[in-house]
Amino acid sequence: MPAECSAVIKADAYGCGAAQVARALNKAGCKTFFVATIEEARSVREAVPEPVIYVLGGYFQNTGEHYAKINCRPVIGDLNELAEWDVFCRRSGWTGGAAIHIDTGMNRLGLTLAEAQAIIPRINAGDHGITLVMSHLVSAEQLNSPVNAKQLAAFRAIASEFSGVPAALANSSGIFLGAPFQFDLVRPGAALYGVNPTPEADNPMQQVVDLKARIVQTRNVERGESVGYGGTWTARRPTKLAIIAVGYADGYFRAASSNDGTRGAEVIVAGKRCPVAGRVSMDLIAIDITDLPPNAVRRGHMVTLLGEGITVDELAHHFGTIGYEVLTSLGHRYARVYTGGNVVEPPAKPAPVSAAEQPSSPQPLEQLASPPPLPS
Ligand SMILES: *Cc1c(COP(=O)(O)O)cnc(C)c1O
Repeated sequence: MPAECSAVIKADAYGCGAAQVARALNKAGCKTFFVATIEEARSVREAVPEPVIYVLGGYFQNTGEHYAKINCRPVIGDLNELAEWDVFCRRSGWTGGAAIHIDTGMNRLGLTLAEAQAIIPRINAGDHGITLVMSHLVSAEQLNSPVNAKQLAAFRAIASEFSGVPAALANSSGIFLGAPFQFDLVRPGAALYGVNPTPEADNPMQQVVDLKARIVQTRNVERGESVGYGGTWTARRPTKLAIIAVGYADGYFRAASSNDGTRGAEVIVAGKRCPVAGRVSMDLIAIDITDLPPNAVRRGHMVTLLGEGITVDELAHHFGTIGYEVLTSLGHRYARVYTGGNVVEPPAKPAPVSAAEQPSSPQPLEQLASPPPLPS
């Protein structure tokens, strides 16, 4: 049987909007979601009444009613935590279930293999309240990392003892390590939002987020003039600039600046790649548009920061980080427009989907972010 494909929508669905993403994916047949905190679970539950929601951050004493109230499940990774959860369930009669997280090498959250072994008698006794057994991969994006096989073997052995309990190991990259890694349920996050889960090869996913910014001014500078804070970029020819209303406060990292001697990021202006000129400032960036035809753009036109061939991963390269952080850093000043997600028809008979079978992003959810209109 193919694995069920859940969706990890923690951190506001990697900056894309948890409520919108949850609704679109639920409509497309997704029945299980993962978030990081109970607060995140609460807002996801408001968006989608039916699906299972797991809280990766685990369980804290005296918070049981919150889980019961919104019907979500803690991912438990510590024996004390499990004991506290059991106390709550016994006292309240709550039978909503919980996942067990087993550490197979990450050394972050999760029971040790020995601790997991110790609860097998409970599993065998039945009526154990455990609805999922899971672990998390350390280096899944590295196809040939020996850690993958090691974790797979360890997880396979322990998961097989949790008889009757569905098992989950793979994040986005883990799915692409092949069928043995997929077990009963896969947990993609980043890939759903267009980040390349196979960085050693071409991206099998579609881009999901488009990001645009407005030109608030164009200006000419003479050869030898500097641009921006610190005067770190000097015009080597008579130069035309477009100043766009976006900056590091919007999550466009300052690391993407372009200085004399170092090239920064590029943006698409009138269909053409143009380089950032000078330092990215808080709310503004200068773009060198000298190579565009005269009058190709003017004040008020939009430029593309993400999209038209600029991928999340390309931007991450210029930001000195990974696509995950590009998305979770998307600022709050963008006007967000969602397209596609609302027109997804649920499959006639919603069935679990094997993510690995899907050639490209299964979610025609698209986000177009742009700053609000200029005041007139
Ligand atoms: C964040 C997270 C995921 C999703 O990882 P991606 O690399 O974004 O696919 C899956 N499982 C756990 C436990 C996570 O914390």
